[in-house]
Order: sequence, then structure tokens, then C-alpha cells
Amino acid sequence: MTTTRFAPSPTGYLHVGNLRTALFNWLIARKQGGTFILRLDDTDPERSKQEYADAIKEDLEWLGLTWNRVETQSARLDRYAAAADDLREKGRFYECFETPTELDLKRKKQLNMGRPPVYDRAALQLTEAEKAALRAERPGHWRFLLDQERIEWEDGILGPISIDAASVSDPVLIRGDGQVLYTLASVVDDTEMGITDVVRGSDHVTNTATQIQIIEALGGTPPRFAHHSLLTGPQGEALSKRLGTLALRDLRENGIEPMALLSLMARLGSADPVELRDSHDELIEGFDITRFGAAPTKFDVEDLGPLTARHLHSLPLAAVADEVAALGVPDALAERFWNVVRENISKRAEIAGWWEILSTGAQPLVDPEDAEFVTEALALLPEPPFDDTTWSNWTGAVKDATGRKGKGLFMPLRKALTGRQKGPEMADFVALMQAKPRL
Ligand code: GLU
Repeated sequence: MTTTRFAPSPTGYLHVGNLRTALFNWLIARKQGGTFILRLDDTDPERSKQEYADAIKEDLEWLGLTWNRVETQSARLDRYAAAADDLREKGRFYECFETPTELDLKRKKQLNMGRPPVYDRAALQLTEAEKAALRAERPGHWRFLLDQERIEWEDGILGPISIDAASVSDPVLIRGDGQVLYTLASVVDDTEMGITDVVRGSDHVTNTATQIQIIEALGGTPPRFAHHSLLTGPQGEALSKRLGTLALRDLRENGIEPMALLSLMARLGSADPVELRDSHDELIEGFDITRFGAAPTKFDVEDLGPLTARHLHSLPLAAVADEVAALGVPDALAERFWNVVRENISKRAEIAGWWEILSTGAQPLVDPEDAEFVTEALALLPEPPFDDTTWSNWTGAVKDATGRKGKGLFMPLRKALTGRQKGPEMADFVALMQAKPRL
């Protein structure tokens, strides 16, 4: 059975880059009728915060990316300790004592000599007595002993990948202070949770190579891997510094609709065009990871505004009925109200403004040269209630009284009755007006 996971570290808010990972994994699971696990990578006690874990859930719920269960790495430390013991017994785990400064010096020397900065495995030469002496000075950290052969896999997006393990440092899996690092926790979880498919950013390709060996050393079977390209800005510029401003909660605050965001992210970087989808089911149906390419993917936050507007324009009343009712729109008017305003909003929050105008009367927008005309016209406007004939009867009477016609007649009246330059079909609008403009 297909099982995927989204494994964010609760050390910050989710942004559009994370969303790509979450969405792809969610889509794969849902498409196969499988399981989607939300896994909180919280083995770093200093940086992980409950507040961020809660925010991650809130953001995913906003998007409707529901999970079958939550797993928390900090609750599984005994599993990682058992795996570490297993690796020790199998001779694939060794204790090292270099300080960060010593490691840095080694790397610099290697680079100066034109060699790749790969850990030299000096710790493997230490005798038991030397280790005991070093241990008295500082706690050791633990590295996984890579088999120095080529590590190969068929990547779901990148195609066949082959990495020479000799070009990679033996990964540190447990720090000197005992903290289990991401690589160990991740492989233990992926194996024990039966993860079948892992999609993550292409910044993880080298990790994947080492993880495949660790999984195999622990007797597991590696999942299928796919590495999606990283997002760049619209000009191809790195997005990493701007990601902080592209947090999902900021997009939500700015009125971006979940389906607009999901429709964009489910297609961006693939060979298929971005198409606005109405439902999660349509997204799932149209998703195919093999359609995605390796090239960096350009993301322009400005694309979300028009998609949001188009999404809103297509919504039936049922999708906004609660909000419309909460504004005080009587049930009998709700359908007509929504039909009148939906084409004239670019964000959900703008619905309220239209009801305010309709229910309490607009603050008229009057150009100085139209002032007299508007006063005369409004004097001819009957008292509410209005109906479908009010607009044509009234404009007919205004035309007769003032001699104005066409744009010169209708535009100032629109601006007087709506307080805006643009808006709904006036006959429909006036029929819904509960009050005259506030002069
Ligand atoms: N916590 C890791 C990250 O956010 C998870 C990577 C993975 O999917 O394995 O980068």
C-alpha cells in the first residue's frame, strides 16, 4: 500500500517551497488511496517549538491537505537508539572525536590540495586506549561507515541517479551531546512506517544516497525517491531569502484562496499547463509526478491574485453561503446577491464591502462636473424597496429630465449608487439596494 509522509521540522512556518513537498506527497497518497503521514521532525529540542507544530497543522488544514496520522520523532528516540545499536553491532557505526574546528581545518587542507572535502576516517585508526582518553575530554559523535561503491536509484523526477559514495563523507548520525540527527531518525521512520514513496527537494539528493545505504544496513528496503526542483523567483533568482515572506499564513492573510494556491503548485514546473481546479479530487486526478522536470521552477507570487479571483468568480452560493449569511444578507436575497458580487471581487473579504453598500447605501463618488446632475438624479430616485424595474424606470426619468444619455448618463449614476468606478450590472444591483446613497 502506498504510504507517503510530509516531514517538516517545526522550526518555522511553512512556505511555498515546503508546500510543494507536502502537496506532492499528499497527492501521491490520495491518488493511490494510500496513507499520508504528517511527521514532525522535531529531534532538535532547541529549535523545535510547539507553536510551529500547531501552525503547520493549521496551514495544512487551511489547504485541506489532511493527514491520516501524525508521528512525532521526539516520541521515538528509543527506536533510533535501537537502530544505532544495530549499526554498531554490524560494524557500520564508529565513534569520532574531532572538534568542529579540527574538521574545518581538515576540509581546508583538502580543498587546498584540490581534493574533495570528504571526512578522512581518521577515527577508524584510533585504538581503544586512545578513544578512552579522548572520551574523558569530550563526548564522541557517531558516523555511519559508508560502503565506498556507487549508490544508484531511479529517481521519479530526475531519472537514473548514480552517486559515488567515496565522494561523500560518512554521515554523522548522533552528535556528541547525544542528539539524534535527521538522517538516522528519517531512515528509521521511513523503514518502520512502511513509507513507499518519498518526494522532497533536490537539496536532499546526496542525503538520499547515504540514506539508501543506511536503510539497507538496517535490513530495510529503500522507498521510491523523487526529488523536485527548488523554486526560484520570477527572474530565476534564488528564493531562499524571500521564502520567509512567502509563508502560507501570509498568503492566507492576503486573501489567497486554497484552490488557487494548490492549482498553481500542483502544476508549476511540470510539462502541463496551470489550470484552475475546483476541487481536491480534480487535482488528484490530474497529477502525475513523472510530468515534472529537473530544472529550477519559477514561482511568481503575483500569479496567485488572478487565480484567486477566477476561483471566486466560479464559486456557487453554497461555497460562500455561511459567510454571506453571517453578513446579514437575508436568505431570500442570498443567491441574487452572490450572483451580483462574485464577478466583482478579487478576495473573499471584499464580499462584505458590497453588502455594506447595498444595505446602508453607498458613499457616492461624484466628479465636480457631475455634482448638479447627480443631485437632480437622486431627487428622482424613489424610496426603497427597489425591484428589477427600478433602474430602467429611474434612468429613463433622469434622461428625460436632464437630456443626458449613454455613458454621460450611466457612468455618474453608477458611481453615485455604488461609490465605485466599476461593478455589477446596475439593474441587478439596484434591485438589491436596501438604502439610497448617503449624500
Ligand atoms: N525535515 C526534513 C526537511 O524539512 C525532511 C526531509 C525529508 O523529507 O526527508 O528538509
